[in-house]
Order: sequence, then C-alpha cells, then structure tokens
Amino acid sequence: MKFHNKLATVSIASAIFVGSALGNTPTTYASSGGQAPTNKEDVSYMGNTKNPKNVIFLVGDGMGPSYNSAYRYFADKPETKEMEKTAFDKHLTGTQRTNPNDPKENVTDSAAGATAFSSGHKTYNGAIGVDENKQSVKTVLEQAKENGKSTGLVSTAELTDATPAAYASHVDSRDKKEAIAKQFYNDKINGEHKVDVLLGGGAEYFGEKNGNIADKFKADGYDVVDNKTDLQNSTNKKVLGLFADNDMPLQVDAPDKNPKLVDMTDSAVKRLQQNDKGFFLMVEGASIDKSGHPNDVTGVMSEMAGFEKSFDYAMDYAKQNPDTLVVATADHSTGGMTIAKGKDYLWNPKAIREMKHSGSYMTKAIADGKDPEKVIKEGYGFEVSANQIQKISNEAKKLKKLDEADKKYEDQLQKLQDAVQKPINDASHTGWTTNGHTGEDVNTYAYGPGSDKFEGNIDNTDSAKNIFDFFKNDVQQ
Ligand SMILES: [Zn+2]
Repeated sequence: MKFHNKLATVSIASAIFVGSALGNTPTTYASSGGQAPTNKEDVSYMGNTKNPKNVIFLVGDGMGPSYNSAYRYFADKPETKEMEKTAFDKHLTGTQRTNPNDPKENVTDSAAGATAFSSGHKTYNGAIGVDENKQSVKTVLEQAKENGKSTGLVSTAELTDATPAAYASHVDSRDKKEAIAKQFYNDKINGEHKVDVLLGGGAEYFGEKNGNIADKFKADGYDVVDNKTDLQNSTNKKVLGLFADNDMPLQVDAPDKNPKLVDMTDSAVKRLQQNDKGFFLMVEGASIDKSGHPNDVTGVMSEMAGFEKSFDYAMDYAKQNPDTLVVATADHSTGGMTIAKGKDYLWNPKAIREMKHSGSYMTKAIADGKDPEKVIKEGYGFEVSANQIQKISNEAKKLKKLDEADKKYEDQLQKLQDAVQKPINDASHTGWTTNGHTGEDVNTYAYGPGSDKFEGNIDNTDSAKNIFDFFKNDVQQ
C-alpha cells in the first residue's frame, strides 16, 4: 500500500472540499443521478485521480480468490524455490462485495453481477441491464458510445451470455438470448450500433433461426469472421467474430483454428484504439465459471491461464499507453474450490499440468458414445486405475438409458463428470463444495489512471460508478 493512502480515508464531504481546494474535479456519482451517497459514508480519496481515456475491464467469471491462489501454485516454476507471483498478484488493489438485490437469493449470478459492473445497480439474479423493477439502466458501454468512444465486448462464452449481454442489452431474463442478440443489432446510439467489436461464441443466436443478425451486421459494414486467421486478416474497425455455435471450447481442448482469449483481446484493442476519443472494452474469461460449475479443476486452470494472458496483454498496453485504465475482477466465486482437501497439507498442481484434456471435454466425448477407457487414456496425463475406469463406464451406461430431454439427464451427466474427474481431483487434492456459486468477496486488480478508485473493499456497483465518473469528466473536458 502506498503511504498516502493510509492517511487519506476521509468522509465524502471533506473529500469534495479537499478535491475542490486542490482544483481537482469533485467526486461525482453519475449513475445515481449525480447525487452523492448518503452523508458520513467513507470513501478513500487520494486527490490524484486522473481520467482514463480508455478502459479495459476484464471479468474472470467465477474467479473467486481461491482460484487466484490456486493458479499461483499451478503457474509456479517447479525448478525455483520461491513461488513466483502471477500477473494478477503484481496489481492487486482490493476486493469487491458481490451480493445481489434479489428477493430470494443473496449469492449472485453472473447476470446480476454483470449488471452491477455495467450499470452500477444492484439487481435480482437473472436480470440483464435492468434494475429490481425491470427498468432499463444505462451501462458504461452505452455511455462510452454516447461520448463518441469505440466499444467492444469479448467473451469465451456466447456473446448473448449474461456478462457481455448486460453491457449492451436490457431484458428481464438472461434466458432471452434471441432478444439479446436482436438488441445488439437494433439498439443504436447516435445512429450507430452500440458495439463496434463483438468477439466470442454463440453463432446460434446470430444465424438463420434468429433473423440472420450476422448478415445484417455484414450489410452494415462489419466484417463477420469465424476463425483466427480471418480475424487476424480483417482490418475493419467493426467486426463480429463468432467462433462457436455456443460457448467456445476450453483452451486446453481447443483446435488451433480457434483464437484464444488473448488473440481476441489483441484484435479488439487494435481496432478500438484507432478512435481518438478512446474506447471501452469488456473482456470476459467466461469458462473459468463454466469449468467451476462441474468442478473441473483442469478446465479452471486452463481458463485461468488464458485469462492471465489477456490480463497481461492489457497491462502491457496500459504501460505503453498511459491514458488507459485496466481493471480485472470477478463477479463471484464458483464451486467452492479449495486448495487441498482431506488430512494432508498438500495441493498438487503437477497432476493438473500433465492433463491433456479437461474433465468437461472427456465427459462430453463419453456422453457422445466414445469408449470411456480410450477417452480417459487420451485425456489423462497419468495412469487411471481399472477400478475407476469401471466406475466411469457404469455412469456412462446409466446416462445412455436416459433421453437428453429427461429431467434426470443433467444430474446423471454431472455424475458421469464427477466420476471422470475423481482421479484428477484426488491426485491434485482439490476440494469442492457445490455445483453453484459462492458469496465470498472477490479480488480487484487495477493499473493506470483512476486505478486508485479501485483500492480497498468496494462494492461491485462501484466499478460502474467509477467508470461513469471518468466518462462524465471526459465529456466536460
Ligand atoms: Zn456461473
């Protein structure tokens, strides 16, 4: 922690006074109608906040603190005695509270979490860009566009998935993916489409079954691409990249023709930076969460590695472009992952590093009818016992008897996945408590002008409020 921070926690009233006295722009709260929060609320005030022109906001979906710690073990160079810091560790600024405003649940989902980041409003689980009364709320991406900036959304999930959706659409339920894709195309700001760069999965919602939205974007001057080569060859400032029908495959399993998250981030930044007024880019490592749900530790580490590379890329960009703020955080944690289980004080990332495929990949292959023994031998980096392979085969047989539409199918699929992953969860000593989300505070990492606003324990809605403040000031300049 920097020295001046320790002395600088003052009440909001004196913060404004000090700010004015020093000739700085006072703290404003654009997303709450320009009103300051109720008095006596303490804020950390540094007096040196500068306004970023560009904001890159990275969301590690499901990346709870244990994921960041586990990834440090995983990424550690075994040949050195010390455990090296990750790219994240060097830029930790604080933590965020994640609870939603939901009548029944007090642990957030990605929709309420992303709406908090995008709009500054706490809302109910499942809400996309709408408040607790289902009213649309403005997002920081929309504000960026209003200011004449360029905008981008990048995700390893479907582009219509909760996190990207909450930046550029407004629907009362995250399940309305057709409507979300339609809003991406139909809703305009100053006569322009809201999002200039859209890269991720979810081709299903942009094709024939949903009004040929991709073709419409193409007719409006966007390049539409579906593989890494075409993405890299495209020089158009506007692009729609759809690299999978649904979620993109995990990095550990993906074919070479697929762009990785860092490739998409790079491609987005190169386009967006051409705008003199700056840009807003949201980058989501979505499959950290999607691997956490089925308790797939191999998948989690694969996606943490991909997310770290994107984060590192964004940090390098910010270091070379001092008008750029980079923030990375998570919406919640997933799976209740623990570093060690049982009686031993030991977590073994080596076993995970040796894996050839994720648990999700092997489970899908077996569910699709491939021979379990063959799949396990090809996917595992170590010998799995005949007894365990028998257990996996038994679960596969039970699954085969069920129709995919059957309610019990999903449960049985998870039982198969549990059996597939037991050897790696045991060998690595990884514990899990749930197939859902957990409510602990998540870490915030930030660098660049305005990063001091992300210090200490803040609320997830503050992420949006801070960015609104930056963009409000940039209009005034
Ligand atoms: Zn989730």
